[in-house]
Amino acid sequence: MSKTIQALRGMNDLSPNESPLWQWVEGQLRETFATYGYSEIRSPIIESTDLFKRGVGEATDIVEKEMFTFSRDEEKESFTLRPEGTAGCVRAAIEHGWIYNQEQRLWYIGPMFRYERPQKGRYRQFHQAGVEIFGIPNAEADAELILLTARLWEKLGIRQHVKLQLNSIGGLDVRTQYREALVAFLQNHLDVLKQDPDSERRLTTNPLRILDTKNQALQALLNHAPKLHDFLDEESKAHFARLCTILDDMGVEYEINQKLVRGLDYYNKTVFEWVTDALGSQGTVCGGGRYDGLVAQLGGHASEGVGFAIGLERLVLLVQEINPHIRLPRTVDIYILHSGEGTTSPAFRLAELIRQAFPHLRTMLHTSGGNFKKQFKRADKSGAKLALVLGENEVAEGTVVIKDLFGESEQITVQQCELIAELQQRFSQ
Ligand code: ATP
Ligand code: MG
Repeated sequence: MSKTIQALRGMNDLSPNESPLWQWVEGQLRETFATYGYSEIRSPIIESTDLFKRGVGEATDIVEKEMFTFSRDEEKESFTLRPEGTAGCVRAAIEHGWIYNQEQRLWYIGPMFRYERPQKGRYRQFHQAGVEIFGIPNAEADAELILLTARLWEKLGIRQHVKLQLNSIGGLDVRTQYREALVAFLQNHLDVLKQDPDSERRLTTNPLRILDTKNQALQALLNHAPKLHDFLDEESKAHFARLCTILDDMGVEYEINQKLVRGLDYYNKTVFEWVTDALGSQGTVCGGGRYDGLVAQLGGHASEGVGFAIGLERLVLLVQEINPHIRLPRTVDIYILHSGEGTTSPAFRLAELIRQAFPHLRTMLHTSGGNFKKQFKRADKSGAKLALVLGENEVAEGTVVIKDLFGESEQITVQQCELIAELQQRFSQ
């Protein structure tokens, strides 16, 4: 026998047992985006490496060490599997003029790739659903995104298990000034900084990310560091105050976390995360913020942006954790059994008739022969609510037997012409 080949590390197969939950979660996402009037976009999974270098930022974890980058010998161009969705979305929006002098509300869903150490809730191929609003500088847009996510958590039954963390990181000037103050402070405490090599390195590359450290001694020290909000400009302060007022009025609770800066370079003003403590250290389910400079930075006609991305693996894990017995739609509603001379074509016809009459029902036709006992076993295993049975007698008489597989009602025989009305009634409850 030849050696079997396995999936790459950190890349998952979704099994037929798991896909109903994923489909349900994705369905709630699509429905929620639609109720706010957002349009879907789809963009390529591979982009030019420069897009992420320029769009995400050279000094970010993603660009420094997490990208899947390759090139073909015959071409000089460098390609990268997209590590996140915003850069590609902005690239497409500029390229096709979707955001030229107009507002846009867009969403996407799909796989992303990052070369990280795989662990629960952290993979090398994972999925994000994201939303971007373009052309609206007001805090109202930020508030709308937060309300949209809150509604989504509500629908998924996890509202009580996620908390909103909010911050404002101002504009570039603010961050430049703050960076200097933070670096000066940390340079006086190099002994503590040295305990966390990642942070030590960031002192020169991306000092604000040090605020994110998990090192406890450093965290304690940072409580005494200069505060970002003391550096905020008037416009950023007013924007943040407006956002907080709307959230207060709408009854959305939040915690202001001055250490929240987010990993990507492109953010300004608002940044936020929805976090949970139900998933260990991979606690951020959704992260987002405002990126007013990104469109111009990628060569477009300046347009404000604000968006977020949800990590679907973590979201699905959380939904499962909170509600392990969630009732998902059946994968099969009706299972059609048939046995005997001349029953095959009538069974196919019946199945097609039902599929045409009830596009939302899932009808499976038994196709592997065998006696009724074996067929009923399959029907039970399928999880179907009803079995429809066709034997030679039924075919001869133009009837069909309906059996409730959960035993809620007696088995009955009806004329085939009455079947549609009967099914209508049985599935309307
Ligand atoms: P983290 O701090 O967990 O590394 P991040 O800041 O890198 O997250 P973003 O780039 O903001 O994450 O992506 C948004 C969301 O995508 C995260 O909150 C998380 O839910 C999810 N996510 C990020 N990286 C991974 C991964 N490697 N595997 C699974 N989900 C991920
Ligand atoms: Mg990361």
